[in-house]
Amino acid sequence: MIYDVVVIGGGHAGTEAAAAAARTGARTALVTHRRDTIGSMSCNPAIGGLGKGHLVREIDALDGLMARAIDRGGIQFRVLNRSKGPAVRGPRAQADRRLYREAVQALLAEQANLDIVEGGVEDLLTEDGRMTGLRLGDGREIRAGAVVVTTGTFLRGLIHRGEATESAGRIGEPPSLGLSASLSRHGFALGRLKTGTPPRLDGRTIDWSGLEVQHGDDPPEPFSALTACISTPQIPCHITQTTPATHALIRANLHRAPMYSGQIESVGPRYCPSIEDKVVRFGDRDRHQIFLEPEGLDDPTIYPNGISTSLPADVQAELVRTIPGLERVTILQAGYAIEYDHVDPRELRPTLETRRISGLFLAGQINGTTGYEEAAGQGLIAGINAALAAGSPGRTFVLGRADAYVGVMVDDLVSRGVTEPYRMFTSRAEYRLSLRADNADLRLTRLGLVAGCVGSARRQVFEARSERLGEGRALLDRLSASPSALLRQGFQVTQDGQVRSAFALLSFPEVTLDRLSAIWPEIAAIAPDIRAQLEIDGRYAGYLQRQEADIAAFRRDENLILPDDLDVNAIGGLSTEVRTILKTSRPATIGAAARLSGVTPAAVIALLRYARS
Ligand code: FAD
Repeated sequence: MIYDVVVIGGGHAGTEAAAAAARTGARTALVTHRRDTIGSMSCNPAIGGLGKGHLVREIDALDGLMARAIDRGGIQFRVLNRSKGPAVRGPRAQADRRLYREAVQALLAEQANLDIVEGGVEDLLTEDGRMTGLRLGDGREIRAGAVVVTTGTFLRGLIHRGEATESAGRIGEPPSLGLSASLSRHGFALGRLKTGTPPRLDGRTIDWSGLEVQHGDDPPEPFSALTACISTPQIPCHITQTTPATHALIRANLHRAPMYSGQIESVGPRYCPSIEDKVVRFGDRDRHQIFLEPEGLDDPTIYPNGISTSLPADVQAELVRTIPGLERVTILQAGYAIEYDHVDPRELRPTLETRRISGLFLAGQINGTTGYEEAAGQGLIAGINAALAAGSPGRTFVLGRADAYVGVMVDDLVSRGVTEPYRMFTSRAEYRLSLRADNADLRLTRLGLVAGCVGSARRQVFEARSERLGEGRALLDRLSASPSALLRQGFQVTQDGQVRSAFALLSFPEVTLDRLSAIWPEIAAIAPDIRAQLEIDGRYAGYLQRQEADIAAFRRDENLILPDDLDVNAIGGLSTEVRTILKTSRPATIGAAARLSGVTPAAVIALLRYARS
């Protein structure tokens, strides 16, 4: 079998990578253990959230799958931080696991240029430092000049539950041993990280009567620009909490928790701690919130978000019964922790191609990240670049920190590496005001069209929206009034004699298009989605103008490219420490070098002199 691009793994990174490569015109194969697990959610049944919701909108803007899949499979949509500014709002949805998986599989089935091959990859095949293909466990070989590895937690995966351990990629699925050995043989430095998941509960044995109910937004707001409205039925979730009895039981059994007994040595996600970790780290708190999230519309399984644990199964059974509403609950599957190998992402270029082997790309949890959205965002970048490497050598698709959260994530990974599983937060982005979830299409779809990863349906929707926005904006720029006229209409604007357009008036906090339509009735004719966008644009316009100078300076430094084979020993004026940092991180630009901790302003000047010479 011969393809342009082969993607290994059918998780969140793999499905986006395969679909993106195929959309970009490469003959693509997705090789994964089992066709029916493609699109599986290994842990929490939810997509999006703070920072992560931005990633999903950006993936959608580049015509990826995740937003469309959650729009089909979502059973409770909520925009988090709605009371705060649009820059930090995070769309999130709980998913019906089965519907989500089926949606991903259906979207892949519709994709031209894409074959799915069942099998486990054991070895990567190379010649003279270039990818030539891969070998499956049953001996079959697939030839391809570009390969994307997206094997999640499967590389030498080891599950822990109390004293018991089991080799597995995730529960019930075998680990990837051969591929991990193959990466080692090719010289990749592998590290070890861990993550965990809570027990799954039987909802029929929960006493829901005294629990707080949480409803989603009504109407639910879709993730994808291609979804007109959400038609999947919406259901609420419930909230409970741990009790002092839960905490006492955990403390009494800490010696049996693999994280505290010394059985697990690798680092887990700091921002997603296990319940035993929370009890130890926040010893003064006597309760922690737990969201009881349904795993599906016709599935009694409940995901107790907040009590991830690797305590022994017998302790878990006792633990859950100390929680209000769960006094008689049955556990359907005990929680566990998993340790796995990952590759140091500083081995990668900003295209997610490895420096060590040309044509080999890595994306997702294998790069030290955690989360479906982080995985999907990397998959998209790796898939597009793998297709470009195969079809248009020399062309690349790189998003910068000023373009997208995906760009922030990739830059963080490839220049700083990871010491713990990496997840996205809005605080990681310097240019939060412009990188909003609401304007992801306006920031990125045009770039995707140039790269060739955006299909015709998306192009039409994008062009129509851009045109309507342009018309709306032109109208708001045309309508204007003096401060005295505005005061007569009840608007408290500065009486400075300056005539302001309707658009400029939106920068005043109390001014909305609804209020302005009392003066200019033609505003009422603008469609609600366009009005909402224009209102946000108007609110932020002043701030964005001020940010423009920062972004321009940032882009100048990003355009100063450092060669891939930079010889740091040849640059005068660098300390040994800075040389070591530069050799390990191999920053692609002056900007990336300046962001590395330990690289001094004097070292940046020396690099600048070198880059300009
Ligand atoms: P995965 O979704 O794991 O997909 C890997 C794919 O690769 C699978 O399809 C597998 O079959 C395939 N594969 C592996 N090896 C081979 C091979 N050799 N040949 C062919 N196919 C192969 N994220 C959070 O944000 N919060 C959490 O609390 C959290 N907890 C987690 C708990 C557990 C127990 C696990 C397993 C994961 C958890 N995650 C959590 C992480 C989340 O599941 C991952 O970040 C996300 O699924 C990673 O996506 P991926 O595409 O990189 O890998």
